[in-house]
Amino acid sequence: MEVRTQEFATGASDALADQQLRTNLRKFMTILKTLRKQVSSEVVNLDELQQRAKDVKNHALENLDYYLELFETKLSENGGRVHYAQTPEDLNQIVIEICRRVNARHVVKGKTMVGEETALNEALIKAGLDVVETDMGEYIVQLANEPPSHILGPAVHKNKKQIADLFYSHHDLGNRSLAEVPEIVGEARHVIREKFLQADVGITGANALIAETGSSLLLTNEGNGDLCSTLPKVHIVVTGIEKLVASLEDASAMLRVIARGVVGQSMACYTSIFTGPREGAQDAGPEEFHVVLLDNTRSELLGNELRDILRCVKCSACLNHCPIYGQIGGHAYGWVYSGPMGSVLTPQLVGMEKATDLFNACTSDGRCAEVCPMVIPLPDLLRKLRVRQWNQNRLKRTWRWGLLMFMLTARYPRIFKRLSKLGVRVLNLLGGGRGALNSLPIKSGWTDVRDLPMPQGETFQSLWARQLKQKKGER
Ligand code: SF4
Repeated sequence: MEVRTQEFATGASDALADQQLRTNLRKFMTILKTLRKQVSSEVVNLDELQQRAKDVKNHALENLDYYLELFETKLSENGGRVHYAQTPEDLNQIVIEICRRVNARHVVKGKTMVGEETALNEALIKAGLDVVETDMGEYIVQLANEPPSHILGPAVHKNKKQIADLFYSHHDLGNRSLAEVPEIVGEARHVIREKFLQADVGITGANALIAETGSSLLLTNEGNGDLCSTLPKVHIVVTGIEKLVASLEDASAMLRVIARGVVGQSMACYTSIFTGPREGAQDAGPEEFHVVLLDNTRSELLGNELRDILRCVKCSACLNHCPIYGQIGGHAYGWVYSGPMGSVLTPQLVGMEKATDLFNACTSDGRCAEVCPMVIPLPDLLRKLRVRQWNQNRLKRTWRWGLLMFMLTARYPRIFKRLSKLGVRVLNLLGGGRGALNSLPIKSGWTDVRDLPMPQGETFQSLWARQLKQKKGER
């Protein structure tokens, strides 16, 4: 997927002007937030469960070299094979080579964010393979030739009619109607089922990798992951190195919080554990089982101040509660990961210089951290990226000067007080008693789309000083 993170401002403006997109987003976000609230309130010790999930993941990350080795050993004993990919290109090449070796022509894919990160579809298609996404949302965006706009619901930006229109133009429907959701789902199922039966290779992601057993754990709500992994003769799991956990017990600690964070379910509809290819006389399951582990600078993250983001299980709860994401959706972010987690992860994966707008597009309301099942301090991480931007001198000159001025005045309360008083007077003068300004000489971008309200009455400091004086007088 092409990196277009530098076009964030344009993408956000376009999204804000798209009323249909905003209606679709509002509906979806409201459903997810309500469901999460309901399910979370049913659990009395949610904080405890989340803390346990955090500890489990931290333990695995602190001992990642050991658990990677253990995972590889166990999977080899089970008859599977681990491959390491340093870069996205390496991962794509490994998958293509496996497909070529088994003379594959048809590939079915379950949802994998790492596959999006490496643009795996494009690479496989370029290598001459027929690739079909089997997750309903992914299938829709594949037909529309668009990237996913949400981790959990790749097609949340589309409504029922838009999806039906897409099927009318791509499927041979005759005079069949797709007026209702069950008809649309039935149509997709009919087409995708044929693809499962044809497929030589199935590719899925993983929600966790279990070191002690060499297993991959996958959660889905549609069951397509199970069909991708059991019907084709080869199953390939593509995922990041950070997905390791020590044991089944530790994986179950994460299961208790992931689904609640995702869609407000206590469990996903399908929880599948794959531990290798079919054995001996078994007549089901793949003949080959591969796990391809992507680094792509994750090992750098392990050693820097953003390491907490490696606990992310891509549940999307932070996206669903982000006021910025809720207005503009995922495409505006210009790459695979969006919302708060994307604004932290993307600069690391595509380079700071290409993603500075992302971590500045944050209101710091802190809701993302409150809902994160892995207790990731997202606002802190976003702030650290801003500090990094400052230290690397990557801030626009006007912003840098503005911040420097603020720092200087904020350190000296007297100067700050006087300047704020002066600012209030100047603004009131400019406002001319109208209560709001509709055009600012220097920051016209602000007043292009909204009025700037004028300060009402006194400054906070003079109000505070007067109240203190009054209180002292009453005593
Ligand atoms: S940062 Fe937390 S809330 Fe956001 S996707 Fe990752 S685990 Fe979920």
